[in-house]
Amino acid sequence: LTVFGETIADGYFSRFEGELLTSERSPFQKIDVYEHPYFGRVLTLDDLVQTTTRDEFSYHEMLVHPALAARDRVERVLIIGGGDGGTLRHVLMHGVQEVVMCEIDDAVVRLCRELLPQLSDGAFDDPRAKVVIGDGAAFVGEHTDAFDTIIVDGSDPVGPAVVLFSEDFFTACRRALRDDGVFISQTGSPLFQTDEFKMAYGNLTASFGRADPYVSFVPTYPGAIWSYMSATAGTPLPDATEDEIAARLRARGIDGRLYSPAVHRAAFALPPFVQDLCETAAPAAVPRG
Ligand code: SAM
Repeated sequence: LTVFGETIADGYFSRFEGELLTSERSPFQKIDVYEHPYFGRVLTLDDLVQTTTRDEFSYHEMLVHPALAARDRVERVLIIGGGDGGTLRHVLMHGVQEVVMCEIDDAVVRLCRELLPQLSDGAFDDPRAKVVIGDGAAFVGEHTDAFDTIIVDGSDPVGPAVVLFSEDFFTACRRALRDDGVFISQTGSPLFQTDEFKMAYGNLTASFGRADPYVSFVPTYPGAIWSYMSATAGTPLPDATEDEIAARLRARGIDGRLYSPAVHRAAFALPPFVQDLCETAAPAAVPRG
């Protein structure tokens, strides 16, 4: 058995014990896949848990459904990152015409298709799905008025993912969105990664004029509570009514295990400590990665 985990705060660590199935160093990161007695298959990048077959639904449902269930038109979707395919699988549930997934590291896609196939569950072979290997920031800069939804499913803002938290990147995403289009990103732990949260909020607000964070939980992420941020020039996500969400989920045949119309509304009810982070955030240059 191999012990793995991460430092969450001084003197506070997560600890997993599992069987290491593969370890590979790509030009971008160290990629490990484990077999775990409780969580099933576990993917880590640079030793940070990214997703597990047992609890991936909690993350992928809350990253994808709030954005897509808040709009009637979800024809063209861009995913940045998301190499494991879980986000792609959930986007395809919404009857999209085309989804492009721009992932910088094809080793992640290869290893996840091989060792965590349940995450993509055939999504990579869906004729509507197109995988592009490259930097999402560069890719989005080449598109204007092109996507109804842009979902950033990036790793923590270290290494190649740093650029995905910059104001320039958010502005490029705003230009790449069609009218009423929605931007969404995972934005880390509002407990243990407050700088990351505030940088994302400050930069996203500077780019779109307004950002709507929401929180949920991912059991295998540090501290479990996790944040996401949406931004749009159209109707903000918190304004979607339960009835309209319910109608779209029914029409698309989607039954969430975590996400529901009521959960959509509740997720945007920010705890005061998260509201305080928003109020003290300011646009910030991303650290030189
Ligand atoms: N769900 C995980 C989480 O929130 O921690 C992240 C899922 S996925 C494994 C993260 C992916 O983002 C990785 O495969 C990584 O290679 C990719 N990535 C990081 N920076 C990127 C960039 N600039 N452009 C495209 N993909 C990037």
